[in-house]
Amino acid sequence: MLWRRILAGLSGPDVPAHLRADFTLLTADHMRGQAQLLFLGFILSLPMVVYGASPGAGPIVAYGLPLAIFVLSSTGLFALSRPRAKVPNCEEALRVIDTVWKLCLVTAAIGSIWCIASWASAPLQTRIYYPAIMSIGGLVLGYCLMAERSVGMTVVVVTMGPPIAVLASTGMVMDVVLAVAMAIGVGFQLTMMVRHQRLLLNLVEERYRSAELARRDPLTGLANRRALIERFESFARRDMAVRLMVVDVDRFKGINDRFGHDMGDRVLQTLATLLASHARGEICAARLGGEEFGLLGSAEALDPAIALQLLREIGCAEMPHGETITASIGVADAVVSSPEDWNPLYAQADRALYCAKNEGRNRVASCEPPESHSPEEIRTARVSNA
Ligand code: GH3
Ligand code: MG
Ligand code: MG
Repeated sequence: MLWRRILAGLSGPDVPAHLRADFTLLTADHMRGQAQLLFLGFILSLPMVVYGASPGAGPIVAYGLPLAIFVLSSTGLFALSRPRAKVPNCEEALRVIDTVWKLCLVTAAIGSIWCIASWASAPLQTRIYYPAIMSIGGLVLGYCLMAERSVGMTVVVVTMGPPIAVLASTGMVMDVVLAVAMAIGVGFQLTMMVRHQRLLLNLVEERYRSAELARRDPLTGLANRRALIERFESFARRDMAVRLMVVDVDRFKGINDRFGHDMGDRVLQTLATLLASHARGEICAARLGGEEFGLLGSAEALDPAIALQLLREIGCAEMPHGETITASIGVADAVVSSPEDWNPLYAQADRALYCAKNEGRNRVASCEPPESHSPEEIRTARVSNA
């Protein structure tokens, strides 16, 4: 229905929940840059506003309203000058949108009063200038505030609505012609806002999709090494005790050699589903590369027993090539507090994996952190499928 479409148009695009934060940040970034220009433009145009006010409109219109615009614009410039770089979080983004919204609305209302008061008191032959000035101002305002539809639309309507209504009501042909031209301009502006917002949403969607792709392993659909390291970094920011399990298929090359690379791929995909079933809550399952996978989690969530359980599941699973496979797992534990802690943790798990391979494969090995490491401290446990 038309009224539903109009309401939806006013309220802005339906942003999916997973994109809302990014969309708000992008909107605030656009608005901030544009509003700063706008406030600067207001200040620079003040001499014209003072000079151009109709002499008959009185000192409040000639000086009071420009002064109010000056105060509002300076406040806006000051309020939006921080942060210098991108808007950092949603809270800040909402503050920016709120500030721009309120200041622009009041400024627009003042501009509208200035225009109508000047128009009403000006001689007949010059009064047409005021709505013309106002329409230019209104369209510039609308353009600058396009990023937030409800803000932009309200400001355009507040700026342009009263002059259009006044002009249309005089009954003079040229006034009505100007009112119609302004109304067409408003309609055009509002349509552009709707399109602009759709573009912003598409941009956010595309960014989200490419960020997702950049973190996903295309063969198995698991997280890739980059995503696993990002998860690690989020643990490190919280100074957490973490556990990493590196899972490597035993003698995988033989599967490729005997059954072909495509079959090898399918084996990897089946293995990935087994790993994915352990990726719950704070546990991340990833393909680190080739036939090597990783499980990373807080030491509390990623119980050491999961490694043996996983080996059992791998050993029991029916694989696409009709045979069973085995894997070896290296486990490492550490309390991490910096992104640089990733390499030592991975090296530790890799050393344990090497031991598991050396001791006959199909087993779990874990070792202590590097400073206390000695060969005796590597413990291995062979899986029993019986
Ligand atoms: P080990 O028990 O010592 O781990 O022996 P392995 O044969 O599993 O290990 P090796 O490193 O010798 O061989 C790994 C093989 O994995 C070699 C490589 O061709 C294969 N490989 C790596 N990535 C892929 C892939 O994406 N798909 C397939 N099908 N094979 C892959
Ligand atoms: Mg292997
Ligand atoms: Mg390997």
